Order: sequence, then C-alpha cells, then structure tokens
Amino acid sequence: MTSRTLIRDLSHKMGETVTIAGWMHRHRSMSKFGFAIMRDRTGLVQVVLEASQLEQLKGLQVESVLKVTGVVVEKKSKDPHVKEVEIQCKLLEILSPVRDAVPVNINNADVEANLDTLLDNRVVTLRNPKQRAIFRVQAALVHGYREYMEGQGFTEIFFPILAGAASEGGAEFFTVNYFDREATLTQSAQLYKQITMAVYEGVYGLSYSFRAEKFATSRHLTEFNQFEFELGFVESMEDVMEHAEGALRYMLPYVERECADELKLRGVTLPPLGEKFPRISLANALQLYKEGTGIDETSEPDLSPAAEKWLSTVWAPKEHGSGFVFVTDYPASKRPFYVKLDPNNPNNTQSFDLVGFGCEIISGGLRVNNYEEQIQRIKDKGLNPADFEDYTMMHKYGIPPEGGFGMGLQRLTQNVLGLANIKEATIFPRDVQRLRP
Ligand code: ATP
Ligand code: MG
Repeated sequence: MTSRTLIRDLSHKMGETVTIAGWMHRHRSMSKFGFAIMRDRTGLVQVVLEASQLEQLKGLQVESVLKVTGVVVEKKSKDPHVKEVEIQCKLLEILSPVRDAVPVNINNADVEANLDTLLDNRVVTLRNPKQRAIFRVQAALVHGYREYMEGQGFTEIFFPILAGAASEGGAEFFTVNYFDREATLTQSAQLYKQITMAVYEGVYGLSYSFRAEKFATSRHLTEFNQFEFELGFVESMEDVMEHAEGALRYMLPYVERECADELKLRGVTLPPLGEKFPRISLANALQLYKEGTGIDETSEPDLSPAAEKWLSTVWAPKEHGSGFVFVTDYPASKRPFYVKLDPNNPNNTQSFDLVGFGCEIISGGLRVNNYEEQIQRIKDKGLNPADFEDYTMMHKYGIPPEGGFGMGLQRLTQNVLGLANIKEATIFPRDVQRLRP
C-alpha cells in the first residue's frame, strides 16, 4: 500500500488527506457520529466517523481490519498513547471484518488475564501495545548483539537443531524419529561453536536449545534461544568475560535508544552498568552473601536464586555502582565436561556466570583444548567417549586455547523488562504442558 501513512507520521501531516490502515482497537458510537481508535505497528489514532460510516461498521467487532482515508486535524487528547491528532474520516473500507468478539480484552493499558489465558490467546493478546513492546525489545537485543559482534570482526554462524547424539550428555534431551533412526534436538550449540571457532577464531550466533526438564520454574523453558560466543587464542578467562561485558554494554544502551517508547510504556529503567562489572569467585560470593544477610550457603556448590538476587541488586550496586557481577571458579561437579579445570585445583573450573537483574543470565568459561584431557573428562563424567567422536575429532586435529559463553535470549528479555515469568518473554513458549499456539 504505497499511499499508506503510518500513524507515527500523522503529526507531520496536519490538514492533509491521508490513508491509514490497521486494526480497530476500540470504537464508540454516539447518535449522529462515532469514534474508532485505529492501531497500526507504530501507534494509535482516533478517527471521527460519520453516521454512514457507523452504518458500515454495524455488526463488526474490535480487531476488524480497516482502511481509512480522511483529513488530519488537531485533537486534545487525555490518553498519552494516542497521537495529538485525529482523522476526520472521508472514506472507510473494511479490509477484514471481525464478527466474533475477541476472547480476551486487549484494548486496555495491558491485558488483564492470568498467564495461561494470556498465552492460550497469544494470537490476539500479543496485539496489545504493552505486550507487543516485549518482542520489540527482544529484537533490539538481538540487533545490538549482532552489531557488537560484527564490530569485533567475528563471524555469525547458524547452528543446526537436529543432531545424531546428545550434545552435552545427560538425560535432558528430546528425541525425534528421523527416517526410522533416532535423532535428538540440540541441548546447546557447544559442539558446533567450538568446531567453527577452530576455523573463524571468533564466532557468534543465536542458537536453539532444547531441554527435556520436567520441572516448572519462572526462569526455565524447554525450548529457548542462546546468544552464543566462542573465541580462540585466549590467554585467560578475562578475554572471554571482556566480550560478555562488552556485548551487554553495547546491547543495553542500544535498547534504550531504539526502544525508548517501549521501555517507557512498560515503565522500565535499566540497572546501572558502572565502570566495570566486578569479578568475584563463587567462594567469595557465598562469603559476602553470608556476611551481608546472615544466610550461610558457603558449603553449596552453586548460588541460590536468593543469593543471585542479593549479589546483583544489593551488593554490586552498593559496592561497585553496577547491577552486574561475574562469579567465577565453579566446582567441576557443577560444570560440563568441556569446561577447563583450574591447573592449581582439579576440583575447580575456569568458568564464570554473569549475574545481573537478580538472576544468572550468562554461563561461560575456558574449554578443554587437549585431546587426551578431553577424553578423560568425558569419562570422569561417566559418559562414553565413543558417543562424542564428532566432538573430540576437533581436539585431535588442533584447537587453540579458547573459551566462550551462552546467554539466554528469553532469560535476558525477561530480566531487562522485569517480567515475573520467562514465558511472558517468549513469543510462543513451550513447557511440559504447553505446545500451542
Ligand atoms: P540455570 O542454572 O539458570 O538453570 P544453566 O546453568 O542450566 O541455567 P546453561 O547451560 O549455563 O544453563 O545455559 C546458558 C544460559 O542459557 C543460562 O545462563 C540462561 O541464560 C539460559 N538458560 C539455561 N537454561 C534455560 C532454560 N531452561 N530456559 C531458558 N533459558 C535458559
Ligand atoms: Mg549456567
């Protein structure tokens, strides 16, 4: 529709005759005239309708798709989301009539429904401006990530989803019937990012991960995406953390710039980045948590959700002016077989999590790059090296000292927007119960 004007641009067209198209967000009839609030991808605008046009709308429900030609005039509006202009309709065309009332009200400030109802009716609930804003922010996070990584000269890779073997061992994988063979859905892109790192040195991409975990939490999905990163010729873990931090320092201001309206609509302010994200060991983090709160988890092998929250929303902002903290040195028992051990302490790994917004958002570390060592580590985890031959082939034929990280796309979106459940930050979420829409 070449002649179509977007609602966002109407304020520059005062007095002109324009054509807009979109959904009928709301409508109201008086005796001789009426109003329709129209919605397109850029906003809302009020259209003033004459009696004959009201007649055309008879029997039609909200969400009918309309094309309106009319004159742009000034309007005094109380609703801050509606442009300060309105359209005096001259010609109304119905592009797609809706005769059934929508199952959930979507024309209020937000959708007032519980999570299951919201998700069951995603087809329409996503059209609510506050809901659609979530995935504008998600898209901007992806664009920011790509721009940062391209700026570093790294190569974007598109990882496969179907695989012949479980990528990280364990039982948490889905199987698919693949021409009468069993295939699995990738748990992570680990194998592929390391193989491609050994060619392009710095690689990144957005992967799909599938985890057949039966538990339901507010931060886990069975299908999710990860921002992947892998870098060769590193000297220490710092070389990897630098890019985890660099990416976030690029992505978050990018979102603030590109999605200012969406963040405002959702009432979001991002946590401070600070000068530099602090780096502390897990042991140190648990000690600080004990001193700060009186809760002793110092014998735990990992941070509890409460400790993650305290570290990134209380301790790091207070001590370092940052809402982010790297926690390093996780025990070997808690990390996969490909994570490099600490040369001074074989129970310890050269690994890190980035905790921000109260939650783990990144896991990363250095990788084993020696063939014999990798075979031994697979055995130590009780796995069979024969099942990982594609993986260990790269070790046999030379991979440099290297490391990388994975950052959950939906986990990050959830936390950037302060959403209670990760499913709100997942366009079509899958969990144990849910496979639709
Ligand atoms: P967690 O400890 O939060 O369960 P993890 O350590 O098992 O996560 P990793 O394999 O380290 O997960 O995954 C890397 C990143 O992917 C995590 O930091 C997180 O952002 C995201 N992630 C992991 N598991 C899930 C999941 N089930 N659903 C959504 N995102 C996830
Ligand atoms: Mg992790």
